[in-house]
Amino acid sequence: MEAKFKEYAKLLVEVGVNIQKGQTLVIGSPVDCAWFARLCARAAYAAGCREVVMRWSDDELTREKYLHAEDSVFDSLPAWQAEFDNGYARQGAAFLHISARDPENLVGVDPDRIARSQRSSGEALREYRELTMSNTVPWCIGSIPIPSWARKVFPGCPEDEAVEKLWEAIFQTVRVDGSGAAVDRWREHLAGLKDHMDRLNGLNLESLHYTNSLGTDLTIRLPEGHIWAAGSSATKSGLPFIANMPTEEVFTAPLRNGVDGVVCSSMPLVHNGVVIDKIRFQVKEGKIVETSAQTGEDALKAAITLDEGASYFGEVALVPYDSPISRQKLLYYNTLFDENASCHLAFGEAYPECLRGGAEMSKEERKARGLNDSITHVDFMVGTADLSITGKTRDGREVPVFVDGNFAW
Ligand code: ZN
Ligand code: ZN
Repeated sequence: MEAKFKEYAKLLVEVGVNIQKGQTLVIGSPVDCAWFARLCARAAYAAGCREVVMRWSDDELTREKYLHAEDSVFDSLPAWQAEFDNGYARQGAAFLHISARDPENLVGVDPDRIARSQRSSGEALREYRELTMSNTVPWCIGSIPIPSWARKVFPGCPEDEAVEKLWEAIFQTVRVDGSGAAVDRWREHLAGLKDHMDRLNGLNLESLHYTNSLGTDLTIRLPEGHIWAAGSSATKSGLPFIANMPTEEVFTAPLRNGVDGVVCSSMPLVHNGVVIDKIRFQVKEGKIVETSAQTGEDALKAAITLDEGASYFGEVALVPYDSPISRQKLLYYNTLFDENASCHLAFGEAYPECLRGGAEMSKEERKARGLNDSITHVDFMVGTADLSITGKTRDGREVPVFVDGNFAW
């Protein structure tokens, strides 16, 4: 296992954020994952990192705060805290996030407190978000097991066994086996994603029409000059990095006002420590006009009303039903993995890289070109074994994009 842990840490640091000599690395990590954060820090220093700066989090303390802190706490983010992220991003640091949470950590917490806290930090961290979303600075989200999470993924398993099983599953998704071959495997994998990306870009689609037996019947128009992206991104200075590890998706941005119909989720979504299941959205001219969920409906309604853009869409992502993570047939209760097992959409902010020249445009210019703007970005899964997606090209031809849950080609 030791060799795998080291290979994984090195992969996240050297390929994920692609740390450069003299660059600062900010690692966001739960305290439970400190041992792994140390491995990442060592790998970063070995690669010539200037300094590793830590931002710790803790599920239990987060829950205590939401339950017991004075109410006014959730309406502002202290200036020094905002400056931490904004300042390091402004200096060109790289950001590595270790994502590991108890999926139900915030059950029973007032959704309004969570929403207000998100709103205030979203406002205060505008600069940080702009610099990361536009790929001005490199960032990467990776993940390791913690017991509370592993127990949810493998219910009925003793805790140690659940953690071990989750490790094995994660190693598979990130192509790490301890042999040191992960970097080469990633190169091959990225080339495979690029084939789909090139094909989609070559079609220059005007719209996509989704249908399946869950009741999804949704048309998504794409902005003129949209770009399908996948795998690795590049900073403005041209350095490649991988924002999500694992990643199996090819994605672009929808036209803000161009989404119409009904969309139903195909997997539970964990958002802010609450499980939201069986989502149904009715969408009109881009805006979510009717919302329901079998569980977590309050949390969902809070999420889509966070700001004006939260009820519009910001991402369209394609993941074949037969892709490797989907084939594991595991529900991870962590979007980093679940979104890479399924076609998904996101409500909220769109990625500027999904529009030609988008990263160089101002927010207003991007908006004028049809990209959504929001302080949030929440992916939810819509892919099924019987999902069909038909594309329409700008010259009016219909092209099958997905047939029976997989790419039509
Ligand atoms: Zn995505
Ligand atoms: Zn997303």
